[in-house]
Amino acid sequence: MNFLEERIQKDGIVKEGNVLKVDSFLNHQMDIDLFNMMGEEFKKRFEGKNINKILTIEASGIGIACIVAQHFNVPVVFAKKSKSINLEGEMYVAEVESFTHKCKNQVIVSKKYLDEDSHVLIIDDFLANGCALQGLIGIVQAAGGTVEGIGIAVEKGFQAGGKMIRNLGYQLESLAIVDSMDPQTGKIEFRQR
Ligand code: 5GP
Repeated sequence: MNFLEERIQKDGIVKEGNVLKVDSFLNHQMDIDLFNMMGEEFKKRFEGKNINKILTIEASGIGIACIVAQHFNVPVVFAKKSKSINLEGEMYVAEVESFTHKCKNQVIVSKKYLDEDSHVLIIDDFLANGCALQGLIGIVQAAGGTVEGIGIAVEKGFQAGGKMIRNLGYQLESLAIVDSMDPQTGKIEFRQR
């Protein structure tokens, strides 16, 4: 088990509805030493890639993305969740269905911060069905930029997102892949790699 798998095993809580709670170190209280180790690991895994920007999504991706960005020495842009609809023009817009809140959000990024010279590493905390990633990829594409890679803390391997994103040909690196989890026993199994 790697450092993140060990921490999930120790402090993660399995909830009904395929939700893994990691509020004590990732999603609410944040363990910055752990984020630093994640940054170091992503830096290794994306070695040689020309990355000049990190893109994430509000809210829980922001903390991780900021610490990861220190290892790449690049700025972070986060897609904002917005209720407004009349933003076309100055904004790239994508529709994202929230896995945890079961609602649709528009996410927006100002055209000022992404363009055809953007070589983007997308970072997020979780990958479930891949809706958030699809939205972020769509935004980079709309800007004419390049997705150089995708770094995820926790992929739930029993949901469809990982397979879908890898089939699209992206380098997707998930630091922990949960293959099964049981809310009754609390047992979490990780993919052997
Ligand atoms: P997707 O769009 O891939 O279905 O879901 C990814 C998003 O939903 C992530 O940005 C994350 O915030 C949230 N999410 C999905 N599954 C979980 C989960 O099991 N636990 C937590 N804490 N967040 C999740």
